[in-house]
Parts: sequence; structure tokens; C-alpha cells
Amino acid sequence: MQEKYDVLIAGCGVSGLYSALQFDENVKILIVSKRKDTLSNSSLAQGGVACVLDFENDNFDLHYKDTFIAGGNKNNPETVDILVHEGPDDVRNIIKMGVEFDTDENGKIMKTLEGGHSRRRIVHHKDQTGYEIVIKLLAKVKSKPNITFAENTLITNIVKVNSGFRADLICENDEPKSVFASYCILATGGIGRVYRYTTNSAIATGDGIRIAYELGARIKNLSYVQFHPTAFNSPEGREQFLISEAVRGEGAYLLNCNKERFMQRYDDRLELAPRDVVSRAIILESRRTGSNNFYLDITYKDKDFLYDRFPAISERCKQEGVDIAKDLIPIFPCQHYLMGGIDVDKNSRTTVPRLYAVGECSHTGVHGNNRLASNSLLEALVFSRRATDDIKLCMEKGFAEVETADFTPDYSGAPLPHGMRTEIRSIMQRAYFVIPDQGAVHNGLKRVEAILKRLRNGHFAITRDYCECLSLATIAFIILREVDEG
Ligand SMILES: Cc1cc2nc3c(=O)[nH]c(=O)nc-3n(C[C@H](O)[C@H](O)[C@H](O)COP(=O)(O)OP(=O)(O)OC[C@H]3O[C@@H](n4cnc5c(N)ncnc54)[C@H](O)[C@@H]3O)c2cc1C
Repeated sequence: MQEKYDVLIAGCGVSGLYSALQFDENVKILIVSKRKDTLSNSSLAQGGVACVLDFENDNFDLHYKDTFIAGGNKNNPETVDILVHEGPDDVRNIIKMGVEFDTDENGKIMKTLEGGHSRRRIVHHKDQTGYEIVIKLLAKVKSKPNITFAENTLITNIVKVNSGFRADLICENDEPKSVFASYCILATGGIGRVYRYTTNSAIATGDGIRIAYELGARIKNLSYVQFHPTAFNSPEGREQFLISEAVRGEGAYLLNCNKERFMQRYDDRLELAPRDVVSRAIILESRRTGSNNFYLDITYKDKDFLYDRFPAISERCKQEGVDIAKDLIPIFPCQHYLMGGIDVDKNSRTTVPRLYAVGECSHTGVHGNNRLASNSLLEALVFSRRATDDIKLCMEKGFAEVETADFTPDYSGAPLPHGMRTEIRSIMQRAYFVIPDQGAVHNGLKRVEAILKRLRNGHFAITRDYCECLSLATIAFIILREVDEG
């Protein structure tokens, strides 16, 4: 007897969890996470969620305009409108679900400022906002009788069957298994691991985008990759620790190798210019000075304020021998976020019937070519709720249930050769980092295409490693092809 669900949700970051919680308890859901339940980009989100909760000194038009300015006016007006107007109710909803944001002595929710925002509108939980949301939503999801939760379970592949999908899995015990679902929501997060240096967690290998691409879904603007200007500069680690935008929001200065402020050479908004502008300015300044040494300086602020406002950042910096109240923080840009992805409409429908995509793996068009800080958790909430609403409507209209058939995936084959992932990461780092190198893009594309062919035709065993490598090669191929074609 095959396992059958109404809805399969791939991913348990903020977008997967929030979608699962919108369904009624008569809907049978399977939600899977390929690693531990809290390992996700959502758990790493520090800064907060941008939204207009009151109109004292802010309004929806300003949030809309800021989003467009950061996005280079490449944003989708309809989805941005939905984001800014509907977002506050989703934020109030997660508060009702138990999420706590920092409040002042009168119990009023505090708001901070981040680059590109014209008002203080980012609600936060210290500098661990994402983790706070994830643990509260996870607890809710795990208490629901209609939701089956499968940790350490990787979806290798999804195929269309009559009235739904079959998903092939590698389960917690490494057993192969297939499940069937009438609807599928991809909430698999970003692609950061296609780069040598990224702020993203180890799960960010673009699996959902690869799976959607193989299903024939439209993928859009995958070359819209965001580089965060201020990751802690430690060249050893692949996962770079982020020094949140909120540190500049609270007044930190950016300094070059001569310990001089330099943003005035590049943009009137100085340290609070949007991320792409600041990242580009750092690269141009590094060419001007011939040095990759850059710093954040917030030492002039009160030390108790800094430790209280940024507990995780100050603790993490301390582990690296840097006291943020006394020392300059060494920083450099690194890959951070993907604006493009699986193309969806305003209800998160992909171009494949019954397949939805939400959160960082999706392309709703809200971010244009550069995401405004703290708009992605908001997008994850708003558009995962809309996906669920849309599926509920389809179900109310009477839907055909998925047809199952006996099937066990065959994962036998040759082991994956070493070094492919490293090579893909080096190609991407060289070719397409902040300011693209067209020659390296062209050559890299040819090499990545060859790797992809080998992976597809090499009769390799389907392992976790193979699937992630296939995803990275597919993502690198689509990005470089898009850039190469201009
Ligand atoms: C360091 C950092 C700081 C950030 N700060 C902020 C911030 O302050 N504000 C803000 O708005 N945004 C921030 N972001 C961005 C934001 O956190 C993410 O865009 C958002 O959380 C993505 O949520 P998600 O649910 O789409 O994906 P994720 O939270 O990444 O979750 C992806 C899920 O998919 C699962 N998955 C992936 N592939 C498979 C597979 N093949 N099979 C099964 N499961 C799979 C993973 O296991 C995981 O559970 C930050 C990001 C980073 C990295």
C-alpha cells in the first residue's frame, strides 16, 4: 500500500511551516526536511521582518516605494502591492501563534532601520528573528494530528502522475521510498551553496528549483543573485557569518583598509544604501586601494546597548577574537540571497498544474533585481499563505485525488567522483561574484554543461550527495546561461 497525502510540502523553513499551518485539520499533509528541522536559511535570519504595523511615521506607499527603489524598478507591481498590504496581518498572525518580537518598556513592538528603508519598520527578536519564528511554528506544526513530519528525509525527484505527483525519497534511515500527493508545495529555500562563500545554511543547494526545472516549470531570473556586503571576513569557512544590516541601521560606519569611510565616493545614502550598491562599492574600493580589508565600526555606541541588541553577533564575533564594542569588525561581501527562482503567479502557482513554490526558491517578482532587507521573511509568510488559500479553493471545488501505483525507487549505481561540487563552486565564485566576468562566465558555462551531462548520463548511485551535486550543477548552468545570453 503506497503512502498517499493531500499535500506534500518540501521544506520546513518559515515558508513551508507557515503554509502547513494554514490548512484545516482534515487535510492530510506530509512535510519533509532534508536535514535537522532547524537547519535552514530561515533559522539564520537575524535582522527581522519588514512591515508597516502602524501609521505613526510610516505607510504602505513608503514601503512599496522603498521595495521598488532597492529592486531597480524591476519588481512586479501587483505582488509588491500584495506584499506590503497583506504582510502586516501575517505578522500579527504569527504573533498570535506565539512568536515574540522585541518590545519597549511600554510593551510596544520596537522597530529598527536597515539599508534601503526610509523608515524604522523592521520588527525583530534580538538578532535571532528567524530562529524565533521557526521554533514557534515548528512546535505548532508538530502538535497537529493531520501533519506528518519527516526529518532527515531528502526528496530526490518528483514526477507527475495522474492527478498529482510521486515524490521519491531517501528517508532518515537512508531507505528509498516513494509517496504520492495530490498537490505539492516546494519550499526548499535558496542556492547559496553553489558559491564558495555564502551566508546560507548547508541545505541551500537549490534542490527544489532543479526538481521544478526537470518537471518543466518556468524558472525566472536565476541570475538575480544578491551579495551581502558585510559577512564576517574569515576565508577558511564556507558558511560565512553575517553581520546584519541592522548593525549599519544602528549607526555602524564602513571603513576601507586605511580605516577611512568611503561610501561618499559611491552613493549619497552612504552606509544605508541598498545591498547591491554597497557590495559593488566595496569591490570598486578594493580595486582602488588594492586591498580586500574592510571593516564595520560601531565602537562609539554604548557597550551594553550593543551586547543586548546584538547578542548572537557579538558572541560569534567574540569567538573570532573581535569585541564589537572595542574592535573593528572585518567584513567582505558574499553570496546571500536569490531573487529569481521558480516562476509563480500571485497565488504561488507554478506553470505546472498543482505544483506551487513559496519562499526563497520561488520567483514572485516582489524583489526585482535586488531584495530590500527583511522583505524575504515577509514574502515567505504572505505567499505561502496564498498558496494554501489557493489549494483550499481548488479542494472546495472538488478535486481528483492522486492515483497511486506500486513503485520503489532504484538507487543503485556507481559512486559519485570527488571534486565536482568544489569545481562548480570555484567556477561560480570566479565568474559571477558581485561584478560578473564575462569571459569566465562563458568558459564556466561550457565546463558546467559538461559536468551536468556527466551527472545525468553517468549511471551514478542516487545518494544525498549525488542529488545535491546535480542541483548545484543545474543551478550553475541556468545562471551562467542567463548571464552569457545577456
Ligand atoms: C544569514 C541570513 C540572514 C538573513 N536575514 C534575514 C532577515 O533578517 N530578514 C529576512 O526577511 N530575511 C533574511 N534572510 C533570508 C531569509 O532567511 C530566507 O530567504 C528565508 O528564510 C527562506 O525561507 P524558506 O522557507 O524559503 O527556506 P529555508 O528556510 O531555507 O528552508 C528550506 C527547507 O527546505 C528543505 N529542503 C531543501 N531541499 C530539500 C530536499 N531536496 N528534500 C527535502 N527537503 C529539502 C530544507 O531542509 C529546509 O527545511 C537571511 C538569510 C540568511 C542566510
